[in-house]
Formats: sequence, structure tokens, C-alpha cells
Amino acid sequence: MHGSFAVNYIEGTKAQWLALQRANALRLECRIVQYNERLGDRVKSWDIIIVGGGIIGLSLAIELRKTGRSVLLVERGEPGKEASYAAGGMLANCGDEFSEALKPLADASAMMYPEFIHELRDESGLRIDFREDGTILFPASDRIRQRPDSHAEKLLPSRLRELEPALAPFGSPAFYLRERCVDPRDLVAACVKAARHRGIDFSSGDEVKGITTSGGRASGVTTNRTVFASDCVVNCAGAWAGLLAPLSFPTRPVKGQMLAMAMTHKDTLRHVVRAPEVYLIPRSDGRVVIGATVEEAGFNKQTVPATILRLHEAALKLAPELRNGKILEAWAGLRPGTPDDLPILGRTFLPGCFIASGHYRDGILLAPITAKLMVQVIEGSKTDFDLGAFSAQRFTTNGASDKRSFTESA
Ligand SMILES: Cc1cc2nc3c(=O)[nH]c(=O)nc-3n(C[C@H](O)[C@H](O)[C@H](O)COP(=O)(O)OP(=O)(O)OC[C@H]3O[C@@H](n4cnc5c(N)ncnc54)[C@H](O)[C@@H]3O)c2cc1C
Repeated sequence: MHGSFAVNYIEGTKAQWLALQRANALRLECRIVQYNERLGDRVKSWDIIIVGGGIIGLSLAIELRKTGRSVLLVERGEPGKEASYAAGGMLANCGDEFSEALKPLADASAMMYPEFIHELRDESGLRIDFREDGTILFPASDRIRQRPDSHAEKLLPSRLRELEPALAPFGSPAFYLRERCVDPRDLVAACVKAARHRGIDFSSGDEVKGITTSGGRASGVTTNRTVFASDCVVNCAGAWAGLLAPLSFPTRPVKGQMLAMAMTHKDTLRHVVRAPEVYLIPRSDGRVVIGATVEEAGFNKQTVPATILRLHEAALKLAPELRNGKILEAWAGLRPGTPDDLPILGRTFLPGCFIASGHYRDGILLAPITAKLMVQVIEGSKTDFDLGAFSAQRFTTNGASDKRSFTESA
């Protein structure tokens, strides 16, 4: 198979080669399903089944595969095309938005990022736009008095102008944070390619309808096409994680609308800029991503022109030089939210069934540490951090309604 890719790559265009590679991958996925159907009762089984091919499912699949386990990733649509594709890609661990519980994980994950990117670039051969220029933060008015991070540098107006001449005078304190950012679309594309390269099986366009049980523990998943067997299933279904029977979790979609502009000069903006109304994320190809709303709108992913216009105007107010750019696209995605804004990580009430979801506004940042910790949980080894604050069980002690949502349905 590799030989034919190589020949086609030399003789054809890169686009043809990519099309062929994708067709081969899809043929492999079909073969897995046909194989399952032929075997009937003797269904092929995997060591681990991951439900959901966003950044959380993909990075966990890769980490598990490194331990020698066979992994099947089942994705309802195309891997990496939901929240993880819609994200801005700030790796924002230095702000003051994190709870005490999440901050150590955010810091550890931010530290892991350079190696995470290096490995993905290496294994996928793909380019990933990963920038280390830092962030300029204008804190919200109720947070002006406190330093957002012990390493934050307070910027005098002259230093601010020097760092980012495109910004209008803001009239409130600004801080420089040593944060990085990544283009999430590059990131998920590299994860998919690296995962295939490592021999992870994919079943795409295949919706998991429920987790099957046998003898009181997980035994696989049923999908709209077939049944897959495994005694270890991990729910990485993002905003949809709460909908997978038989366990239900209190996750919910939190809509975010964004837009991207194309600038004539690639370095109109060098830093990520975070202000109370809006944030700006420069990409190395000259795009500037502007975000984002935080809306309770169910599973609705439509953009609203008036909202996009409002974001655009707020961005122009912050950086008037953006007037010289063109709006390229607008989109919306669904963040996986939870009642306390913390992810749900670890075991569930059903033996053999695990969950890694609810990463809300920080799933891109938290992906490397989530993958590492979940491997430790699944292997039953001591985790690097206490995951008590993120356990699925925390919702059962909060009240009757939460208890009900965890009841295993018959
Ligand atoms: C506008 C916006 C901006 C953001 N900005 C940032 C940022 O700057 N930094 C940051 O760290 N985070 C950011 N986030 C948050 C981040 O995108 C999410 O936390 C992260 O992508 C969650 O990853 P995930 O894999 O859990 O979910 P997803 O990427 O949504 O993946 C879940 C996958 O599960 C699949 N699935 C669902 N149900 C089933 C089923 N039954 N069967 C099979 N497959 C199923 C879905 O199709 C989907 O592909 C942002 C999010 C949005 C929307």
C-alpha cells in the first residue's frame, strides 16, 4: 500500500496523492465493518474503543496505541471536524480564568505542548502552525487589580506600542503572558494522519448508539452500522458525551461563533490579544482569527450575521489596522460544557467504561495532559495528579437530579 502511495506521489500531484491516501483509508474502514459483519458472533475485538474523534479522542488514541494496545476510534462524522476544528487554539494557561483544581493540569499540558507538536509533525509529515510569541492580556475591569499570573509582565504604554503597534491605546493595564497558540485545524489533521500511521483503526461516518454491556461491564458499542467489541470503551464524544446510553453525563453544548480575516501583511499582529470583549489570534499565513461568543443555544451551530459583525467591530476597535483585511469565513462550534466548567475524566459507574469529556473552553490546551492521565487511569496506575475534582461521580453528590442522570438505564 505504501509503495502505491509513493509512486502516485511522484507521478501525480500532491492533491491526487492525498485523495488516494484518503480513499485507501476509507477502504480500510469499510473492510473493518465488512469483517465484523462476516464474523457474526465472533466479532473482532479491540483492546480499546474510543467514541469520538475530536482532539481528546485522537490524542488519547495515539497515547494508548503507544502502549501496544489495539485501538478503534468510532466517529459519527469525519474525525476532527467539530469543536476541535472550530477552536481558536489559544494555549491559555497563564490567565486568571482557571479554577484552583484545573490550573495544575493546564500548566502541565502547556509544558507538554512543544514535544506534542514535535512528535505530531514528525509522525504526520504535516505542517502545524504553532506560535510562541506570547499573549497580550487586557484583564476585565473586575480583575484589573490582580496580577493574572506570577510570571505576567505589566506593560507600560511605550512597551505595549513596541510589542504590538497595531493595537489602539486601550486605557487600561496590559500584561504580557508567556503563552503559545496553535492552529487547531492543522493539529487535528496531523493527529488523524499520525493515528493512521500508528495503525489505529477508524470507523468514520458511524454513530455510536450505545455502549453494550455483558456481565455488568462494558463489552463494546453498537453503532448505526454494526457492533464493535471491546471490554474497554472511552467516551470522548465532546458536547454529545451525555447522550451515550446507558450512562448519561451532565455535559451540554456551549456555542461559540468566530470569524477569520485575511491580512495583506503577514505580521499585522504578532501576539494573541485577549480583551474582555474579544480575542485576536494571529496565524503565520496572515490570517487573524477573532472570537468568540459563549452562548447557550443547544446543538445549533448556525452563525448569526449580526453577532459576527459585532465581533468584527470589537476587533477593529482593539486593532484598527484590521480594517485593511478581508473577512474570510465565519463559523460556530459547540464546546463541551459541564455544570461546574470542569472536565469529566476517569472511570464511570460501569466497569470498563471511561470518560474524557467536558473540556469546555480549554480542550485544545488540555489534550496532551488528558491523554497522559487517561492512559494512567485505564492502566490502573497512580495518576500524576489527583483527579477527584474531575470524577464522573462528583455529580452524584450534588442532588437528586444529577443522581438521576447517572442512573444506568435498563
Ligand atoms: C469557538 C470555540 C473556540 C475555542 N477556543 C479554544 C481555544 O482557544 N483553546 C482551547 O484550548 N480550546 C478552545 N475551545 C474548546 C475546544 O475546542 C474543546 O474543548 C475541544 O475541542 C473539545 O474536544 P473534544 O474532542 O472533546 O470534542 P469535539 O472536537 O467536539 O469531538 C467530539 C467528537 O465526538 C463525535 N461524536 C459525538 N457523538 C458521537 C457518537 N455518538 N458516535 C460517534 N462519534 C460521536 C463528534 O462528531 C466529534 O467529532 C474552543 C471551542 C470553540 C467552540
